[in-house]
Amino acid sequence: MVVVMAPEATQTDVDTIVDLVRTAGGEAFVSRGVARTIIGLVGDIEQFGTLNLRSRTGVGDVVRISVPYKLVSRENHPSRSVIKVGGVPIGPGTVTVIAGPCTVETPEQTVAAARMAKAAGASLLRGGAFKPRTSPYAFQGLGEAGLKILAEVRAETGLPVVTEVIDPASVDLVCSYADMLQVGTRSMQNFTLLQAVGSAGKPVLLKRGMNATIEEWLMAAEYIAQRGNLDIVLCERGIRTFETATRNTLDISAVPVAQRLSHLPVIVDPSHSGGRRDLVLPLSRAAIAVGADGIIVDVHPEPAAALCDGDQALVDSDIRELAAVMSTMPQLMGRTLSQAPQPVTVG
Ligand code: PEP
Ligand code: MN
Repeated sequence: MVVVMAPEATQTDVDTIVDLVRTAGGEAFVSRGVARTIIGLVGDIEQFGTLNLRSRTGVGDVVRISVPYKLVSRENHPSRSVIKVGGVPIGPGTVTVIAGPCTVETPEQTVAAARMAKAAGASLLRGGAFKPRTSPYAFQGLGEAGLKILAEVRAETGLPVVTEVIDPASVDLVCSYADMLQVGTRSMQNFTLLQAVGSAGKPVLLKRGMNATIEEWLMAAEYIAQRGNLDIVLCERGIRTFETATRNTLDISAVPVAQRLSHLPVIVDPSHSGGRRDLVLPLSRAAIAVGADGIIVDVHPEPAAALCDGDQALVDSDIRELAAVMSTMPQLMGRTLSQAPQPVTVG
């Protein structure tokens, strides 16, 4: 951290800052220029935060040199992490496809979507049982009945389940069925939810808030990590811009930026970003080409009858093309496609 003194700062102002820092257990190195004096601070940066340095007399600016997210940053953990979900790896070396319906509607619809997902190359099944809908009049999800359907479909297909949790009170319930907890774009700054999933002992898929900067997204991940859970996968799902042709604007550069700043895997949601079926394949290719560790895609056996997000769901006729992308593009990027575990056979 560097304190830049204002041009009119006096020697007493400089001495006050140096004393404050030393009393807080840090070191302060004063460097005098022709117009300005700067003070370099070494020590516990969080401790310096309590000194209110910016509001002290004679201080012009306080500049942070290290990143504010420690546990998820590459400063302290240079190599990129691989997170396992039900044995399926997400991270460098592989491309992982998560696919399934936006929301669980019926056992038949979910199993049909899971079969489409598998045929497309997916190794994890997505599906919402608790849906954070913009309108209170829209379908809110089946709740626990939906989680039960997901668990049945996992047993039948072998695909581990990724599903959203929208409030701290239902974390235990969702954990009892899910292999990975999804925190959605609308919940990215629900700090009590982040802490609850951080304590839950399950991998977390953390979507980027639609209005969040990359730093805010990584600070949200830090909340989870701070509770002892580093099994976090970041998901870029589009941000709000002035553009109306797409539902959100996929911030493709967020993928390499987040991968450079954080050791956590980064995947892309080409469905919720574009909000249009015809964009899902192009955005999936773009995601893999930019180096994403995977994608999460909506598929539905009958999108016209879908209770949520039918416009962006891939249909049967798209699956062959997605499978073709998945059988070629990971190798071009020096990766392999993550494979689904075998279904558990009872008997
Ligand atoms: C979802 O994946 O079902 C979802 C609601 O996504 P997002 O939070 O990105 O809108
Ligand atoms: Mn959706």
